[in-house]
Amino acid sequence: MSAVSTDSAGAIASQQSEDDDAGPRASAPLRLMAVHAHPDDESSKGAATMARYAREGVDVLVVTLTGGERGDILNKAMDRPEIRADLAAVRRAEMARAREILGVRQQFLGFTDSGLPEGDPLPPLPEGCFALQPLETAARPLVRAVREFRPQVILGYDENGGYPHPDHVKCHQVTIEAFEAAGDPDRYPDCGEPWQPAKLYYFATFHKARLTALHEEMLRRGIKSPYEDWLKDWVDDPDKPGPEITTRVPCADFFDLRDQALLAHATQIDPESSWFAVPREVQRAAWPTEDFHLARSVVDTEKPEDDLFAGVRDSAKERVNR
Ligand SMILES: [Zn+2]
Repeated sequence: MSAVSTDSAGAIASQQSEDDDAGPRASAPLRLMAVHAHPDDESSKGAATMARYAREGVDVLVVTLTGGERGDILNKAMDRPEIRADLAAVRRAEMARAREILGVRQQFLGFTDSGLPEGDPLPPLPEGCFALQPLETAARPLVRAVREFRPQVILGYDENGGYPHPDHVKCHQVTIEAFEAAGDPDRYPDCGEPWQPAKLYYFATFHKARLTALHEEMLRRGIKSPYEDWLKDWVDDPDKPGPEITTRVPCADFFDLRDQALLAHATQIDPESSWFAVPREVQRAAWPTEDFHLARSVVDTEKPEDDLFAGVRDSAKERVNR
């Protein structure tokens, strides 16, 4: 059993440990699972949303498919021999800190990072890595985690992975597989009691409407925008319009925690980078939400939504009170 509370200063008291079992908390009728490829992905996609729901009493579990062992060290200050010597352990410690800041639970599913292949032609993926696993092998631990935690809502990546890392694309595939198979007693019969999640969303983080709104608000305030070149070079591909935004979750009060969690992944993020170049007031004024695309739903819901649990809350409450 674990508990999270926030004191008046916003600091988090957390009694969680990494080896918490991933079963649902009896006291939390609503459960949210976020499926990610690497430690740090949870802090750059949907983090403020998770922090908000966790503080509203929702049981939030991040599952991380790989250990991020093949990530580069992206922060010069952290590129030191003792860190390079055991990056996997350093990243586990960073993840534990980020999880604590967000007030969520987290579980590694034990696959090995595939690395981001670079060069022309691209080198082959390393033997045994996550992206090379057959779908059933890759999805099995996630199916088990879904049946154990019993989330109503799952967050994951779209078919392009959000960005073209082989682990992200694979992450999308296993998330779909788990959403479809977890409720079917004939599939993965050795992975626990069937559970059908109600909704599956894709993260929609770097979409044009948001970047444009932030960019314009910065120009209006006479602040240099980090998105100038990005937007100038933006090519709208009619064949890949990007996921439709169906759901905007207000979470500006948690942007600070999101940034703290991201900074906890110190090997992966440069504090001077453009991630932190947009002042908080600009974000709050121009785009105070995190955004999602409702990809699958087995419940009725009216779009656009402002709540991931729309269409789920009442039936979840009834089940607990019965
Ligand atoms: Zn990643």
